[in-house]
Amino acid sequence: KSRKKNQYMNNKRIWLSLAHMGGQEQQFIQEAFDTNWVVPLGPNVDGFEKDLENYLGENKHIVALSAGTAAIHLALVQLGVGPGDEVICQSFTFSASANPIKYLGANPVFVDSEPDTWNMDPELLREAIEDRIRVTGRKPKAIIPVHLYGMPAKMDEIMTIACAFEIPVLEDAAEALGAEYKGQKCGTFGEFACLSFNGNKMITTSGGGALVCSTKEEADFTKHLATQARDNAPHYQHSKVGYNYRLSNICAGIGRGQMMVLQQHVEARRRINLKYRQLLAGVPGISFQSNPTTDFNSNMWLTCIVVDPAVAGFSREELRLAMEQENIETRPLWKPMHLQPVFADTPYYGNEAKVSERLFDDGLCLPSHPNLTEEDLQRVVDVIKGLAEM
Ligand SMILES: *Cc1c(COP(=O)(O)O)cnc(C)c1O
Repeated sequence: KSRKKNQYMNNKRIWLSLAHMGGQEQQFIQEAFDTNWVVPLGPNVDGFEKDLENYLGENKHIVALSAGTAAIHLALVQLGVGPGDEVICQSFTFSASANPIKYLGANPVFVDSEPDTWNMDPELLREAIEDRIRVTGRKPKAIIPVHLYGMPAKMDEIMTIACAFEIPVLEDAAEALGAEYKGQKCGTFGEFACLSFNGNKMITTSGGGALVCSTKEEADFTKHLATQARDNAPHYQHSKVGYNYRLSNICAGIGRGQMMVLQQHVEARRRINLKYRQLLAGVPGISFQSNPTTDFNSNMWLTCIVVDPAVAGFSREELRLAMEQENIETRPLWKPMHLQPVFADTPYYGNEAKVSERLFDDGLCLPSHPNLTEEDLQRVVDVIKGLAEM
């Protein structure tokens, strides 16, 4: 295939997703040093939790933790998940959605996605619940839908089914901070939700996460579990198995600074997505993950495209390699959990549409961070147009 020669002077690496500091982060960290709060817990942790509560609304109670994965783990502990239990989880996701199920000796049951949002298919969810009850005689203990790449899952349908079977929902909103469904923030629909502040997410604390809780009691209990479940006594006494999962006051300082620019980040990622759509309009065989209706408002964490090789004349993998040659980092979409070696023999509910398998075969994440320049975007688009011989 012929490709336009790189006409850009600047061939610096374009990364998929980079952290972007707002400017206030170091001041919060300096305050922590000045007041000797260089510990887990402290004023930055309290402030960061308040900022998140104000941002998400819906009277949620938030506990800052060392990782999003820790948040999922502590939610499952509180939902009573234990050895031999089953937890329904979206198959099309990052392994961190499902691993904590295994930490507890429980077993995931994977459910495929529907083609509109790429998230949990409500029909397959119902089928999975009914079948698990038939097969095991017991209800799954929880349902974990994911708002993948910041796209809200079909929460009305999912919550209706969850309510009908009285199974609690734990939203994985790790990628979805700032996304909305029917005007309500993702992460506020379930009994619990996890957020992530890893380096590549919507905002970062260098590493960190949070558990969104529905009651103050849940939040207090989360804090208790996350600080080694220490009883109220002058000596160290424990009646439960605890965890060391709290966020450090230094990392929370970064988080407070990031909260000041969160809305800017969301707007920047949406603007980048729109720009890609404009620049790639008319390229045959390229489609986008898109808000299916105005009920959905993705934060566009990563712009994701799907290459139809029969129409485009090139495959996703050819495109990825061409990008790499131009020093541009892209990545295939998440490999579904039901295809992962670690989860072989795990029950899976899908249908002939094979939505996540097709997305894994043909999908690509494009560079999407807020500091991308117009020239960066043009370089990315030129690789696609070059392969399309446009
Ligand atoms: C990043 C991520 C997590 C885990 O968050 P960490 O903070 O990295 O532990 C969980 N689920 C999804 C979908 C993620 O993308």
